[in-house]
Amino acid sequence: MKDVTVRYGRHARALTTAVEDVSLTLVDGEFTVLVGPSGCGKTTLLRVVAGFERASAGAALVRDAAPAPGGGTGIVFQQPRLFPWRTVGGNLAFALARHGVPREQRPSRIAELLDRVGLAGMGRRRTWELSGGQQQRVAIARALAGEPRLLLMDEPFAALDALTRERLQEEVRTLAASSGTTVLFVTHSAEEAVLLGTRVLVMAAPAGAPGRIVAELPVDLPRDAGTDPAALRAAPEFARLRGELTATMREAATLPA
Ligand code: ADP
Repeated sequence: MKDVTVRYGRHARALTTAVEDVSLTLVDGEFTVLVGPSGCGKTTLLRVVAGFERASAGAALVRDAAPAPGGGTGIVFQQPRLFPWRTVGGNLAFALARHGVPREQRPSRIAELLDRVGLAGMGRRRTWELSGGQQQRVAIARALAGEPRLLLMDEPFAALDALTRERLQEEVRTLAASSGTTVLFVTHSAEEAVLLGTRVLVMAAPAGAPGRIVAELPVDLPRDAGTDPAALRAAPEFARLRGELTATMREAATLPA
């Protein structure tokens, strides 16, 4: 993204400038986290990368092309947004079909996707029989159906209970580390940002001004799949980074407009 500004609304008097002059480059294989208070424009930026929203000014490119929904980008929202009239496998089959996977290959791909998100053998279940955490796992599997090179996640764990959230954070961390997928992840939690990100971008919309990126924090914690999550959370370096990020976020909220 180069100098991206997004304005909402059609009439001059009712325009909201959600973000202004944001420049951001996502590096292949990196896990970038956008963090900031609600309303600072995180979702707006993610929607620009997804191709759901056009920049009012500036330019956004994904691999040298204008962002477009589908293609090589997978998306996970806060709510799972599954088709309730389809089974778990049926939801994934729909996504695989959209990505052009031939019918005869779909059952094995569904089994493999379910396995990757810890839902092996659940393909015949109805989505409403699943817990919130399991539904979100299906949503992650659906996002992976097109073997995306870029995965966008918009507060995917915000609606889950604390224990389920921890478990899913760990799985996404492992998934990203082992597959090398480029991830752009939105959250308002400093803890989640440090746990998942290889770098964290702090956004702010001080005093109602348009949102922008105000700070960047590299996170240099062990990322390989074998890292023990409990040990990581207990590590002094983890606490230090979380503290530093929290302080930066507090400061950002009090910047002049
Ligand atoms: P965040 O994800 O950080 O909570 P958003 O990107 O959702 O922030 O919103 C940024 C700003 O843009 C907010 O002021 C919000 O009210 C406004 N906004 C978001 N979506 C729309 C929309 N569709 N129409 C008008 N204003 C919007």
